[in-house]
Amino acid sequence: MATRIDGKAIAAALRGEIAAEVAQLKEKGVAPGLAVILVGEDPASCTYVRNKQKACEEAGIHAEQINLPADTTQEQLLAVVEELNHRSDIHGILCQLPLPRHLDDEAVIAAISPAKDVDAFHAENVGHIMIGDIRFLPCTPAGVMELLHRSDISVEGKQCVVIGRSNIVGKPMAMLLLHENATVTICHSRTKNLAEVCRGADILVAAVGRAKFVTADMVKPGATVIDVGINRDENGKLCGDVDFDAVEPIAGAITPVPGGVGPMTIALLLKNTLTAAKQQNGLA
Ligand code: NAD
Repeated sequence: MATRIDGKAIAAALRGEIAAEVAQLKEKGVAPGLAVILVGEDPASCTYVRNKQKACEEAGIHAEQINLPADTTQEQLLAVVEELNHRSDIHGILCQLPLPRHLDDEAVIAAISPAKDVDAFHAENVGHIMIGDIRFLPCTPAGVMELLHRSDISVEGKQCVVIGRSNIVGKPMAMLLLHENATVTICHSRTKNLAEVCRGADILVAAVGRAKFVTADMVKPGATVIDVGINRDENGKLCGDVDFDAVEPIAGAITPVPGGVGPMTIALLLKNTLTAAKQQNGLA
């Protein structure tokens, strides 16, 4: 039976460390500030934003939520970003995605100052991640790396398979694993013999967005299985991309959903906001 990697506990420990650093920074006269832009009232986005705000407050980070109506124009949104780019009390800016369909995600990401881009989505920061000179960590993939580090699972020389090639999860995940000397394979919707490729993995990361997509026949006995997915099953219950009940008896270690990768993403956002505040005050 696999060891369960407790993301909730690991994230809580990390958030505690960040809170201590925030307190130290405040003693030096710097109060880290994050602005979170929410356009419209998508229920999932509202929940994510609320959770981010709460986590910031608990860590002593000032979080400012900017709620814009669903019919906000591109020009209005870009003007809000521009104003935040110039505010010295706001060190990090994020715009909750997805935006309403009439707005251009890419243009908004590009408008955020790279120095305040705590989601690490701006092309400049993506470039930094690619070359390994990392300014801001990609939150979800870096959360996965923290889970591995704090569970004493080394990736060096291991066969790592990432299912999913999104800019937010799959691609930066592969980069972070590569930077720690893993041999990395990225799988996607056009991959042939997916189950066979996955069975070769010492560490399997699923970031597909399909409930119970990873089945027992795709997992090598003893492998570490990291489930990034957030889905609803046929009964509306929260579940990951991995068929947890079937895979747990085979895997060596596994993350549950909820309580695995999810809590880490927010912790890493706090870490990036702290980093941004330090960098903008010449303390990093
Ligand atoms: P996405 O839709 O942008 O990407 C999904 C990827 O899965 C694509 O690259 C696609 O090629 C691949 N894919 C789709 N069907 C496939 C198939 N049949 N075989 C192999 N690959 C296939 O999604 P995303 O933004 O990368 O998110 C993935 C999942 O992770 C979602 O469930 C999302 O909700 C979740 N997520 C969780 C967190 C977190 O904090 N835990 C953060 C971000 C995303």
